[in-house]
Amino acid sequence: MSYIERVWEKVSQRNAGEVEFLQAVREVFDSLEPVMERNPQYEAAGILERIVEPERQIIFRVPWVDDQGKAQVNRGFRFEFNSALGPYKGGLRFHPSVNQSVLKFLGFEQVFKNSLTTLMMGGGKGGSDFDPKGKSDNEVMHFCQSFMTELQRHIGHHTDVPAGDIGVGARELGYMFGQYKRIRNEFTGVLTGKGITWGGSLIRPEATGYGTVYFAEEMLKTRDEKLEGKVCTISGSGNVAQFAAEKLNQLGAKVVSLSDSGGTIYDPAGIDAEKLAWVMELKNRRRGRIKEYTEKFGGEYLEGERPWSIKCDCAFPCATQNELNGEEAQTLLDNGCYVVSEGANMPSDPDAVNIFIDSKILYAPGKAANAGGVSTSYLEMRQNSSRNNWTRERVDKKLNEIMVNIHAATRAAAAEYGEPDNYVMGANIAGFTKVANAMLDQGIV
Ligand code: NDP
Repeated sequence: MSYIERVWEKVSQRNAGEVEFLQAVREVFDSLEPVMERNPQYEAAGILERIVEPERQIIFRVPWVDDQGKAQVNRGFRFEFNSALGPYKGGLRFHPSVNQSVLKFLGFEQVFKNSLTTLMMGGGKGGSDFDPKGKSDNEVMHFCQSFMTELQRHIGHHTDVPAGDIGVGARELGYMFGQYKRIRNEFTGVLTGKGITWGGSLIRPEATGYGTVYFAEEMLKTRDEKLEGKVCTISGSGNVAQFAAEKLNQLGAKVVSLSDSGGTIYDPAGIDAEKLAWVMELKNRRRGRIKEYTEKFGGEYLEGERPWSIKCDCAFPCATQNELNGEEAQTLLDNGCYVVSEGANMPSDPDAVNIFIDSKILYAPGKAANAGGVSTSYLEMRQNSSRNNWTRERVDKKLNEIMVNIHAATRAAAAEYGEPDNYVMGANIAGFTKVANAMLDQGIV
Protein backbone atom coordinates (compact mmCIF):
# COMPACT_ATOMS: atom_id res chain seq x y z
CA MET A 1 0.00 0.00 0.00
CA SER A 2 1.40 3.44 -0.91
CA TYR A 3 2.24 6.11 1.70
CA ILE A 4 -0.81 8.12 0.61
CA GLU A 5 -3.19 5.16 0.96
CA ARG A 6 -1.80 4.26 4.40
CA VAL A 7 -2.34 7.80 5.63
CA TRP A 8 -5.78 7.91 3.96
CA GLU A 9 -6.84 4.81 5.87
CA LYS A 10 -5.91 6.47 9.17
CA VAL A 11 -7.50 9.81 8.27
CA SER A 12 -10.78 8.24 7.23
CA GLN A 13 -10.93 6.17 10.43
CA ARG A 14 -10.01 9.05 12.72
CA ASN A 15 -12.45 11.48 11.07
CA ALA A 16 -15.24 9.02 10.33
CA GLY A 17 -18.47 10.73 9.28
CA GLU A 18 -16.79 14.04 8.41
CA VAL A 19 -17.94 13.84 4.79
CA GLU A 20 -16.84 17.27 3.54
CA PHE A 21 -13.45 17.12 5.27
CA LEU A 22 -12.70 13.66 3.86
CA GLN A 23 -13.82 14.78 0.39
CA ALA A 24 -11.33 17.68 0.49
CA VAL A 25 -8.48 15.47 1.74
CA ARG A 26 -9.16 12.78 -0.88
CA GLU A 27 -9.04 15.33 -3.69
CA VAL A 28 -5.67 16.66 -2.55
CA PHE A 29 -4.28 13.16 -1.98
CA ASP A 30 -5.35 12.10 -5.50
CA SER A 31 -3.08 14.81 -6.93
CA LEU A 32 -0.08 14.03 -4.73
CA GLU A 33 0.79 10.41 -5.66
CA PRO A 34 3.55 11.42 -8.16
CA VAL A 35 4.91 14.03 -5.72
CA MET A 36 5.34 11.41 -3.00
CA GLU A 37 7.11 9.06 -5.43
CA ARG A 38 9.66 11.74 -6.31
CA ASN A 39 10.10 13.07 -2.77
CA PRO A 40 10.61 10.34 -0.14
CA GLN A 41 11.66 13.01 2.39
CA TYR A 42 7.98 13.91 2.89
CA GLU A 43 7.14 10.42 4.12
CA ALA A 44 10.21 10.31 6.35
CA ALA A 45 9.07 13.51 8.07
CA GLY A 46 5.42 12.42 8.35
CA ILE A 47 4.26 15.45 6.38
CA LEU A 48 0.90 13.99 5.30
CA GLU A 49 0.03 12.70 8.78
CA ARG A 50 0.73 16.18 10.16
CA ILE A 51 -0.85 18.26 7.40
CA VAL A 52 -4.28 16.60 7.82
CA GLU A 53 -4.38 17.32 11.55
CA PRO A 54 -5.28 20.90 12.61
CA GLU A 55 -2.64 22.40 14.90
CA ARG A 56 -5.39 23.56 17.24
CA GLN A 57 -9.19 23.11 17.38
CA ILE A 58 -11.26 25.45 19.49
CA ILE A 59 -14.96 24.75 20.13
CA PHE A 60 -17.00 26.96 22.43
CA ARG A 61 -20.47 27.89 23.68
CA VAL A 62 -21.96 31.14 22.37
CA PRO A 63 -24.84 32.25 24.61
CA TRP A 64 -26.88 35.34 23.67
CA VAL A 65 -30.28 36.90 24.36
CA ASP A 66 -32.83 37.35 21.55
CA ASP A 67 -35.29 40.24 21.09
CA GLN A 68 -37.91 38.38 23.17
CA GLY A 69 -35.49 38.21 26.11
CA LYS A 70 -34.99 34.47 25.65
CA ALA A 71 -31.57 32.82 26.07
CA GLN A 72 -30.16 31.23 22.92
CA VAL A 73 -27.08 29.05 22.56
CA ASN A 74 -24.99 28.47 19.45
CA ARG A 75 -21.73 26.65 18.94
CA GLY A 76 -18.57 28.56 17.95
CA PHE A 77 -15.46 27.12 16.30
CA ARG A 78 -11.99 28.09 15.16
CA PHE A 79 -9.72 25.56 13.46
CA GLU A 80 -6.13 26.81 13.43
CA PHE A 81 -4.93 24.41 10.78
CA ASN A 82 -1.38 25.19 9.75
CA SER A 83 1.02 28.04 10.59
CA ALA A 84 4.10 26.91 8.62
CA LEU A 85 3.84 29.91 6.26
CA GLY A 86 2.52 32.64 8.58
CA PRO A 87 -0.28 33.53 11.01
CA TYR A 88 -3.47 31.49 10.58
CA LYS A 89 -5.70 33.21 8.04
CA GLY A 90 -9.18 32.29 6.84
CA GLY A 91 -12.77 33.37 7.15
CA LEU A 92 -15.59 32.97 9.66
CA ARG A 93 -18.84 31.40 8.42
CA PHE A 94 -22.22 31.86 10.13
CA HIS A 95 -24.71 29.39 8.68
CA PRO A 96 -26.94 26.68 10.22
CA SER A 97 -25.06 24.00 8.23
CA VAL A 98 -21.76 24.83 9.97
CA ASN A 99 -20.21 21.92 11.84
CA GLN A 100 -16.76 20.45 12.50
CA SER A 101 -16.57 18.68 9.12
CA VAL A 102 -17.48 21.77 7.08
CA LEU A 103 -15.00 24.02 8.88
CA LYS A 104 -12.22 21.42 8.76
CA PHE A 105 -12.67 21.06 5.00
CA LEU A 106 -12.55 24.84 4.62
CA GLY A 107 -9.49 25.13 6.90
CA PHE A 108 -7.67 22.36 5.05
CA GLU A 109 -8.38 23.95 1.66
CA GLN A 110 -7.29 27.31 3.02
CA VAL A 111 -3.79 26.00 3.84
CA PHE A 112 -3.12 25.14 0.18
CA LYS A 113 -4.88 28.23 -1.17
CA ASN A 114 -2.87 30.58 1.03
CA SER A 115 0.33 28.81 0.05
CA LEU A 116 -0.55 29.20 -3.64
CA THR A 117 -0.80 32.99 -3.26
CA THR A 118 2.95 32.96 -2.36
CA LEU A 119 2.13 35.39 0.47
CA MET A 120 3.06 34.65 4.09
CA MET A 121 -0.14 33.19 5.49
CA GLY A 122 -1.00 30.00 7.33
CA GLY A 123 -4.48 28.51 7.08
CA GLY A 124 -7.47 28.47 9.41
CA LYS A 125 -11.26 28.72 9.39
CA GLY A 126 -14.00 29.24 11.93
CA GLY A 127 -17.59 30.21 12.45
CA SER A 128 -20.83 29.17 14.03
CA ASP A 129 -24.12 27.40 13.35
CA PHE A 130 -25.82 30.76 14.03
CA ASP A 131 -28.14 31.87 11.19
CA PRO A 132 -28.13 35.65 10.65
CA LYS A 133 -31.08 35.30 8.23
CA GLY A 134 -34.30 36.54 9.79
CA LYS A 135 -32.52 38.04 12.84
CA SER A 136 -32.71 41.71 13.76
CA ASP A 137 -29.56 43.86 13.70
CA ASN A 138 -29.74 43.90 17.48
CA GLU A 139 -29.75 40.10 17.68
CA VAL A 140 -26.87 39.84 15.22
CA MET A 141 -24.90 42.33 17.33
CA HIS A 142 -25.52 40.42 20.56
CA PHE A 143 -24.49 37.17 18.94
CA CYS A 144 -21.31 38.68 17.41
CA GLN A 145 -20.31 40.23 20.74
CA SER A 146 -20.72 36.93 22.56
CA PHE A 147 -18.85 35.04 19.82
CA MET A 148 -15.92 37.47 19.98
CA THR A 149 -15.86 37.46 23.79
CA GLU A 150 -14.48 33.92 23.55
CA LEU A 151 -12.68 34.08 20.18
CA GLN A 152 -10.56 37.08 21.20
CA ARG A 153 -8.48 34.84 23.50
CA HIS A 154 -7.23 32.87 20.53
CA ILE A 155 -6.63 35.43 17.77
CA GLY A 156 -4.34 38.43 17.23
CA HIS A 157 -2.70 40.27 14.36
CA HIS A 158 0.46 38.12 14.59
CA THR A 159 -1.37 34.90 15.52
CA ASP A 160 -4.64 34.38 13.70
CA VAL A 161 -6.47 36.92 11.52
CA PRO A 162 -10.05 35.91 10.57
CA ALA A 163 -12.12 37.45 7.75
CA GLY A 164 -15.69 37.05 6.45
CA ASP A 165 -17.33 34.16 4.61
CA ILE A 166 -20.93 33.01 4.18
CA GLY A 167 -23.17 35.00 6.55
CA VAL A 168 -20.31 37.21 7.72
CA GLY A 169 -20.17 40.53 5.87
CA ALA A 170 -19.52 44.17 6.74
CA ARG A 171 -22.17 44.28 9.50
CA GLU A 172 -20.94 41.19 11.36
CA LEU A 173 -17.24 42.11 11.00
CA GLY A 174 -17.98 45.57 12.43
CA TYR A 175 -19.70 44.17 15.51
CA MET A 176 -16.91 41.65 16.08
CA PHE A 177 -14.14 44.22 15.62
CA GLY A 178 -15.88 46.57 18.08
CA GLN A 179 -16.03 43.85 20.73
CA TYR A 180 -12.40 42.78 20.19
CA LYS A 181 -11.21 46.37 20.59
CA ARG A 182 -13.29 46.84 23.71
CA ILE A 183 -12.01 43.71 25.45
CA ARG A 184 -8.36 43.91 24.38
CA ASN A 185 -8.04 47.69 24.47
CA GLU A 186 -6.09 47.70 21.22
CA PHE A 187 -6.78 48.86 17.68
CA THR A 188 -5.02 46.35 15.43
CA GLY A 189 -5.68 44.60 12.14
CA VAL A 190 -7.03 41.47 13.85
CA LEU A 191 -9.80 41.01 11.28
CA THR A 192 -9.77 41.72 7.55
CA GLY A 193 -12.68 42.97 5.51
CA LYS A 194 -12.95 45.92 7.91
CA GLY A 195 -14.87 49.09 7.04
CA ILE A 196 -12.90 51.55 4.97
CA THR A 197 -12.86 54.27 7.67
CA TRP A 198 -11.55 51.90 10.37
CA GLY A 199 -8.68 50.02 8.78
CA GLY A 200 -10.22 48.24 5.80
CA SER A 201 -8.74 48.07 2.31
CA LEU A 202 -10.32 49.35 -0.86
CA ILE A 203 -11.17 46.42 -3.20
CA ARG A 204 -11.34 43.85 -0.35
CA PRO A 205 -15.14 43.46 -0.74
CA GLU A 206 -14.71 43.04 -4.50
CA ALA A 207 -11.59 40.87 -4.37
CA THR A 208 -12.90 37.29 -4.38
CA GLY A 209 -15.40 37.88 -7.18
CA TYR A 210 -13.00 40.00 -9.25
CA GLY A 211 -10.19 37.48 -8.71
CA THR A 212 -12.33 34.58 -9.91
CA VAL A 213 -13.06 36.48 -13.10
CA TYR A 214 -9.38 37.46 -13.56
CA PHE A 215 -8.51 33.77 -13.26
CA ALA A 216 -11.07 32.85 -15.95
CA GLU A 217 -9.61 35.54 -18.20
CA GLU A 218 -6.13 34.03 -17.73
CA MET A 219 -7.43 30.56 -18.60
CA LEU A 220 -9.09 31.93 -21.75
CA LYS A 221 -5.83 33.62 -22.78
CA THR A 222 -4.24 30.16 -23.12
CA ARG A 223 -6.69 29.73 -26.04
CA ASP A 224 -6.28 33.29 -27.34
CA GLU A 225 -9.78 34.18 -26.19
CA LYS A 226 -11.39 36.80 -23.92
CA LEU A 227 -14.43 37.05 -21.68
CA GLU A 228 -15.87 39.80 -23.86
CA GLY A 229 -19.11 38.63 -25.46
CA LYS A 230 -19.33 35.40 -23.42
CA VAL A 231 -22.62 34.34 -21.83
CA CYS A 232 -22.02 33.59 -18.13
CA THR A 233 -24.03 31.90 -15.40
CA ILE A 234 -23.37 32.69 -11.73
CA SER A 235 -24.78 30.93 -8.68
CA GLY A 236 -25.27 32.75 -5.39
CA SER A 237 -26.09 36.42 -4.93
CA GLY A 238 -23.86 37.25 -1.97
CA ASN A 239 -20.49 38.95 -1.80
CA VAL A 240 -18.59 36.75 -4.25
CA ALA A 241 -21.42 36.43 -6.79
CA GLN A 242 -22.15 40.18 -6.81
CA PHE A 243 -18.60 41.22 -7.59
CA ALA A 244 -18.00 38.40 -10.07
CA ALA A 245 -21.04 39.80 -11.91
CA GLU A 246 -19.70 43.36 -11.67
CA LYS A 247 -16.32 42.45 -13.16
CA LEU A 248 -17.88 40.29 -15.90
CA ASN A 249 -20.06 43.24 -16.90
CA GLN A 250 -16.99 45.52 -16.94
CA LEU A 251 -15.18 43.09 -19.23
CA GLY A 252 -18.08 42.96 -21.68
CA ALA A 253 -19.50 39.54 -20.80
CA LYS A 254 -23.24 38.92 -20.31
CA VAL A 255 -24.36 37.59 -16.90
CA VAL A 256 -27.69 35.76 -17.17
CA SER A 257 -28.23 34.20 -13.73
CA LEU A 258 -27.93 34.65 -9.98
CA SER A 259 -29.40 32.47 -7.23
CA ASP A 260 -29.93 31.97 -3.52
CA SER A 261 -31.04 29.03 -1.41
CA GLY A 262 -34.62 29.57 -2.67
CA GLY A 263 -33.93 29.33 -6.40
CA THR A 264 -32.41 30.89 -9.52
CA ILE A 265 -33.27 33.94 -11.59
CA TYR A 266 -32.62 33.69 -15.33
CA ASP A 267 -32.48 36.95 -17.27
CA PRO A 268 -31.58 36.30 -20.93
CA ALA A 269 -31.30 40.07 -21.52
CA GLY A 270 -28.40 40.21 -19.05
CA ILE A 271 -28.03 41.47 -15.47
CA ASP A 272 -26.43 44.82 -16.34
CA ALA A 273 -24.86 47.34 -13.94
CA GLU A 274 -28.18 49.00 -13.10
CA LYS A 275 -29.94 45.70 -12.32
CA LEU A 276 -26.92 44.56 -10.32
CA ALA A 277 -27.00 47.74 -8.20
CA TRP A 278 -30.62 46.86 -7.37
CA VAL A 279 -29.58 43.30 -6.41
CA MET A 280 -26.86 44.68 -4.10
CA GLU A 281 -29.42 46.90 -2.37
CA LEU A 282 -31.84 43.93 -2.10
CA LYS A 283 -29.22 41.57 -0.64
CA ASN A 284 -26.96 43.85 1.40
CA ARG A 285 -29.50 46.32 2.82
CA ARG A 286 -33.03 44.95 2.59
CA ARG A 287 -31.80 41.33 3.02
CA GLY A 288 -34.51 40.08 0.66
CA ARG A 289 -34.84 37.01 -1.60
CA ILE A 290 -33.54 36.85 -5.18
CA LYS A 291 -36.96 35.90 -6.58
CA GLU A 292 -37.99 39.56 -6.14
CA TYR A 293 -35.71 40.28 -9.14
CA THR A 294 -38.17 38.84 -11.65
CA GLU A 295 -41.03 40.90 -10.19
CA LYS A 296 -38.93 44.02 -10.90
CA PHE A 297 -37.10 43.17 -14.14
CA GLY A 298 -38.84 40.14 -15.68
CA GLY A 299 -36.98 37.01 -16.74
CA GLU A 300 -37.71 33.62 -15.19
CA TYR A 301 -37.60 32.43 -11.59
CA LEU A 302 -36.60 28.77 -11.32
CA GLU A 303 -37.93 27.87 -7.89
CA GLY A 304 -35.68 25.47 -5.94
CA GLU A 305 -33.30 25.12 -8.90
CA ARG A 306 -29.63 25.86 -9.47
CA PRO A 307 -28.43 27.70 -12.60
CA TRP A 308 -26.63 24.78 -14.28
CA SER A 309 -29.37 23.91 -16.78
CA ILE A 310 -29.03 27.37 -18.39
CA LYS A 311 -27.03 27.49 -21.62
CA CYS A 312 -23.75 29.41 -21.19
CA ASP A 313 -20.11 29.66 -22.26
CA CYS A 314 -18.73 30.16 -18.76
CA ALA A 315 -20.04 29.13 -15.32
CA PHE A 316 -19.09 30.72 -12.01
CA PRO A 317 -20.28 28.72 -8.98
CA CYS A 318 -20.21 31.32 -6.17
CA ALA A 319 -22.62 29.99 -3.51
CA THR A 320 -21.48 27.00 -1.44
CA GLN A 321 -19.87 23.54 -1.33
CA ASN A 322 -21.26 20.65 -3.42
CA GLU A 323 -23.69 22.89 -5.32
CA LEU A 324 -22.86 21.33 -8.70
CA ASN A 325 -23.12 17.55 -9.16
CA GLY A 326 -22.02 15.17 -11.93
CA GLU A 327 -25.34 15.31 -13.76
CA GLU A 328 -25.30 19.10 -13.74
CA ALA A 329 -21.66 19.14 -14.90
CA GLN A 330 -22.65 16.98 -17.86
CA THR A 331 -25.58 19.29 -18.66
CA LEU A 332 -23.23 22.28 -18.66
CA LEU A 333 -20.89 20.52 -21.10
CA ASP A 334 -23.79 19.35 -23.32
CA ASN A 335 -24.95 22.98 -23.52
CA GLY A 336 -21.51 24.14 -24.69
CA CYS A 337 -20.00 25.50 -21.46
CA TYR A 338 -16.20 25.29 -21.59
CA VAL A 339 -15.01 27.55 -18.74
CA VAL A 340 -15.76 26.88 -15.06
CA SER A 341 -14.11 29.16 -12.50
CA GLU A 342 -15.04 28.47 -8.86
CA GLY A 343 -15.70 31.49 -6.66
CA ALA A 344 -17.05 29.25 -3.89
CA ASN A 345 -15.03 26.65 -1.98
CA MET A 346 -15.44 23.08 -3.32
CA PRO A 347 -18.71 23.85 -5.16
CA SER A 348 -18.26 20.96 -7.60
CA ASP A 349 -18.74 17.50 -6.11
CA PRO A 350 -16.17 14.75 -6.94
CA ASP A 351 -18.21 13.43 -9.92
CA ALA A 352 -18.45 16.93 -11.39
CA VAL A 353 -14.71 17.53 -10.88
CA ASN A 354 -13.86 14.31 -12.73
CA ILE A 355 -16.20 15.16 -15.60
CA PHE A 356 -14.63 18.61 -15.97
CA ILE A 357 -11.08 17.23 -15.87
CA ASP A 358 -11.80 14.42 -18.34
CA SER A 359 -13.50 16.81 -20.77
CA LYS A 360 -10.41 19.06 -20.85
CA ILE A 361 -12.45 22.24 -20.52
CA LEU A 362 -10.90 25.21 -18.70
CA TYR A 363 -11.77 24.24 -15.13
CA ALA A 364 -10.31 26.12 -12.13
CA PRO A 365 -10.84 24.78 -8.60
CA GLY A 366 -11.75 27.27 -5.86
CA LYS A 367 -8.43 27.04 -4.09
CA ALA A 368 -6.82 28.71 -7.11
CA ALA A 369 -9.67 30.74 -8.59
CA ASN A 370 -11.04 32.29 -5.37
CA ALA A 371 -7.67 33.08 -3.76
CA GLY A 372 -8.07 36.78 -4.61
CA GLY A 373 -10.08 37.35 -1.42
CA VAL A 374 -7.45 36.12 0.99
CA SER A 375 -4.69 37.76 -1.06
CA THR A 376 -6.36 41.14 -0.69
CA SER A 377 -6.85 40.43 3.01
CA TYR A 378 -3.07 40.12 3.13
CA LEU A 379 -2.79 43.49 1.38
CA GLU A 380 -5.13 44.88 4.06
CA MET A 381 -2.80 43.47 6.75
CA ARG A 382 0.18 45.13 5.05
CA GLN A 383 -1.62 48.47 4.97
CA ASN A 384 -2.56 48.09 8.66
CA SER A 385 1.06 47.29 9.64
CA SER A 386 2.41 50.34 7.88
CA ARG A 387 -0.61 52.53 8.72
CA ASN A 388 -1.03 53.34 5.04
CA ASN A 389 -4.05 53.41 2.73
CA TRP A 390 -3.48 52.33 -0.82
CA THR A 391 -5.58 53.59 -3.73
CA ARG A 392 -8.23 51.46 -5.40
CA GLU A 393 -6.11 51.25 -8.54
CA ARG A 394 -3.04 50.07 -6.65
CA VAL A 395 -4.89 47.29 -4.80
CA ASP A 396 -6.75 46.15 -7.92
CA LYS A 397 -3.53 46.05 -9.96
CA LYS A 398 -1.82 44.01 -7.23
CA LEU A 399 -4.85 41.65 -7.05
CA ASN A 400 -4.68 41.14 -10.80
CA GLU A 401 -0.92 40.42 -10.63
CA ILE A 402 -1.48 37.88 -7.85
CA MET A 403 -4.17 36.06 -9.86
CA VAL A 404 -1.93 36.03 -12.94
CA ASN A 405 0.89 34.54 -10.82
CA ILE A 406 -1.37 31.92 -9.25
CA HIS A 407 -2.52 30.92 -12.72
CA ALA A 408 1.07 30.62 -13.93
CA ALA A 409 2.22 28.68 -10.83
CA THR A 410 -0.72 26.30 -11.15
CA ARG A 411 -0.01 25.54 -14.80
CA ALA A 412 3.73 25.19 -14.14
CA ALA A 413 3.22 22.63 -11.35
CA ALA A 414 0.75 20.66 -13.48
CA ALA A 415 3.16 20.73 -16.43
CA GLU A 416 6.03 19.52 -14.26
CA TYR A 417 3.99 16.39 -13.59
CA GLY A 418 2.92 15.95 -17.22
CA GLU A 419 -0.63 17.38 -17.15
CA PRO A 420 -0.36 21.09 -18.08
CA ASP A 421 -4.13 21.63 -18.46
CA ASN A 422 -5.09 20.03 -15.16
CA TYR A 423 -5.62 22.99 -12.82
CA VAL A 424 -6.78 20.74 -9.96
CA MET A 425 -3.53 18.81 -9.94
CA GLY A 426 -1.49 21.98 -10.45
CA ALA A 427 -3.15 23.88 -7.59
CA ASN A 428 -2.85 20.96 -5.18
CA ILE A 429 0.80 20.27 -6.02
CA ALA A 430 1.96 23.91 -6.02
CA GLY A 431 0.04 24.64 -2.80
CA PHE A 432 1.27 21.50 -1.07
CA THR A 433 4.94 21.76 -2.03
CA LYS A 434 5.49 25.16 -0.47
CA VAL A 435 3.82 24.24 2.84
CA ALA A 436 5.50 20.83 2.97
CA ASN A 437 8.95 22.32 2.42
CA ALA A 438 8.38 24.92 5.13
CA MET A 439 7.26 22.13 7.49
CA LEU A 440 10.41 20.15 6.68
CA ASP A 441 12.58 23.19 7.48
CA GLN A 442 10.81 23.81 10.79
CA GLY A 443 11.22 20.27 12.18
CA ILE A 444 8.63 17.91 13.63
CA VAL A 445 6.26 20.39 15.31
P1 NDP B 1 -22.52 35.29 1.25
O1 NDP B 1 -23.10 34.91 2.55
O2 NDP B 1 -22.29 36.72 0.94
O3 NDP B 1 -23.40 34.68 0.05
C1 NDP B 1 -23.64 33.32 -0.03
C2 NDP B 1 -24.59 33.08 -1.18
O4 NDP B 1 -24.69 31.66 -1.40
C3 NDP B 1 -26.01 33.54 -0.90
O5 NDP B 1 -26.63 33.92 -2.10
C4 NDP B 1 -26.66 32.30 -0.31
O6 NDP B 1 -28.06 32.26 -0.43
C5 NDP B 1 -26.02 31.22 -1.14
N1 NDP B 1 -25.99 29.96 -0.36
C6 NDP B 1 -25.35 29.76 0.81
N2 NDP B 1 -25.56 28.50 1.24
C7 NDP B 1 -26.35 27.92 0.31
C8 NDP B 1 -26.91 26.64 0.18
N3 NDP B 1 -26.70 25.70 1.10
N4 NDP B 1 -27.66 26.39 -0.93
C9 NDP B 1 -27.88 27.34 -1.87
N5 NDP B 1 -27.37 28.59 -1.78
C10 NDP B 1 -26.61 28.87 -0.72
O7 NDP B 1 -21.14 34.46 1.13
P2 NDP B 1 -19.88 34.72 0.18
O8 NDP B 1 -20.34 35.26 -1.13
O9 NDP B 1 -18.87 35.43 0.96
O10 NDP B 1 -19.35 33.22 -0.03
C11 NDP B 1 -19.79 32.38 -1.11
C12 NDP B 1 -18.77 31.27 -1.33
O11 NDP B 1 -17.48 31.85 -1.63
C13 NDP B 1 -18.53 30.35 -0.12
O12 NDP B 1 -18.24 29.06 -0.59
C14 NDP B 1 -17.26 30.94 0.51
O13 NDP B 1 -16.56 29.99 1.28
C15 NDP B 1 -16.50 31.33 -0.74
N6 NDP B 1 -15.44 32.32 -0.54
C16 NDP B 1 -15.73 33.56 -0.03
C17 NDP B 1 -14.72 34.47 0.14
C18 NDP B 1 -15.00 35.87 0.58
O14 NDP B 1 -14.08 36.71 0.50
N7 NDP B 1 -16.21 36.22 1.01
C19 NDP B 1 -13.31 34.13 -0.14
C20 NDP B 1 -13.13 32.83 -0.77
C21 NDP B 1 -14.17 31.97 -0.92
P3 NDP B 1 -28.99 32.47 0.88
O15 NDP B 1 -28.86 33.92 1.21
O16 NDP B 1 -30.34 32.06 0.46
O17 NDP B 1 -28.42 31.58 1.95
